[in-house]
Amino acid sequence: MWRWLLVAAALLQQATPLSVSEINVPKFCAECGGRTMAARTPPGDERPRAVCGACGYVAYENPKVVVAVVARAPDGKVLLAKRAIEPRLGTWGIPQGFMELGETTREAAAREAFEETGAVLNPSEMALLALYNLPGQVQVVYEAPLPANAKLETSTTESSEIKLFEESDALKADLCFPTVTWALERCFSSLDRCRGVQERTKAFQGGEWRVLIDDDGGGYLAS
Ligand SMILES: [Zn+2]
Repeated sequence: MWRWLLVAAALLQQATPLSVSEINVPKFCAECGGRTMAARTPPGDERPRAVCGACGYVAYENPKVVVAVVARAPDGKVLLAKRAIEPRLGTWGIPQGFMELGETTREAAAREAFEETGAVLNPSEMALLALYNLPGQVQVVYEAPLPANAKLETSTTESSEIKLFEESDALKADLCFPTVTWALERCFSSLDRCRGVQERTKAFQGGEWRVLIDDDGGGYLAS
């Protein structure tokens, strides 16, 4: 329970830099190998970081990107998976996980859905449902149509059970994270969605860039 209170507190509080005692200091310097890392504010910076006292290397820590997807069958049911892994082992969640290098957020969401449930989702059919700023991570949640004939696994390495839930049953299930509840509530609401992604070629400083553009106006470079 304390973890969710922490999340709620973090959502409510003003953005403040971590204090020196909160900095995660690695044992060894990744650059020179010395046991010389300490938390301090590097010259020209305004917040403390893990800095090597010998070579000056700075170990920057930034939020991770987590992707998640609410997959919805044509009859409105949503795809949930029971967690076979910690944290929150045995509770129900939507497919989610860390984005990998070399994939877009939609591709990452499709990969997680396949790994955790066997469902094959089309990244270009995903609609941006929600974006949550949490301690240490940014969560990007999509909604995606689950094909009527989708083949689901009965279990996977990460999920002990995989099931389609009616709206009301999904919200009554023992859900793993508050963001899952919020994303499902949002999915079941009639709010407008940012739908689809378009691939465009855009010019910049004499060069051409292949860019994927969300129809909410956000753009990101194609991998
Ligand atoms: Zn060093």
